[in-house]
Amino acid sequence: MIRACHLYPDLLNLYGDGGNMVAFQKRCQWRNIPLQILYKSLADTKDFNAYDFVFLGGGSDQEQKLAGADLMKSRDQLQKAIENGLVVLAISGGYQLFGCHYETGDGKQAPGLAILDMYTETGGKRLVGNAVIEMKLDGVPTRVVGFENHYGRTFLDGIGPLGKVLFGKGNNGKDGLEGARYKNVFCSYLHGPLLPKNAALTDKLIRLALKKRGLEPYLKPLDDTFEQRAHTALLDRLGLKAN
Ligand code: GLN
Repeated sequence: MIRACHLYPDLLNLYGDGGNMVAFQKRCQWRNIPLQILYKSLADTKDFNAYDFVFLGGGSDQEQKLAGADLMKSRDQLQKAIENGLVVLAISGGYQLFGCHYETGDGKQAPGLAILDMYTETGGKRLVGNAVIEMKLDGVPTRVVGFENHYGRTFLDGIGPLGKVLFGKGNNGKDGLEGARYKNVFCSYLHGPLLPKNAALTDKLIRLALKKRGLEPYLKPLDDTFEQRAHTALLDRLGLKAN
């Protein structure tokens, strides 16, 4: 059984981010892969050694600060679990929490978990709109579509991006990079929701979670007609190919 934890579903759920967890759940269910999802918010006990997959969505400044302060209490355990292969998907505000610090819209700096070598500043206009990135999934260049809406400008220091921006703004609107990737941690500004529109990425996360649990990571192919349509709609409009 895969054990998943959806962190702060009540606070970090902008633009239907919860749909990412639903997509993960559905694609497990359709393959009869047993999955338990725990929903954990402020003041709930969190045991990062017990989970295979952790999901955090994005949030407005206020909610992000509350979640960040709470998560700080389990910071060391979370970092250790990540070093041991915990699979994480963190979106936008949830992504920013993993850096050394982040700034809120009023320009105030808040401490991050400092698990990933990066930081977030603000300034200028919101970076908002549709986005397409190209990332490598098991060495295969894969186009990922979504929607971004953030003030924060994230700069990577010692870690690599999730992908390169083909359309949209990405981490900071300047360096052409989007998201961050470290071990089994996937961070992105793309809400989307990301996973329902990008089945290949969802399946990658499921395979990693199965491996983390010591289970066979084989995934039965699914009829993805609908998912493929959701995936290619924006690409078609932009005149981009799926891969
Ligand atoms: N509050 C953060 C920002 O505006 C994150 C927003 C979000 O999650 N979309 O940068």
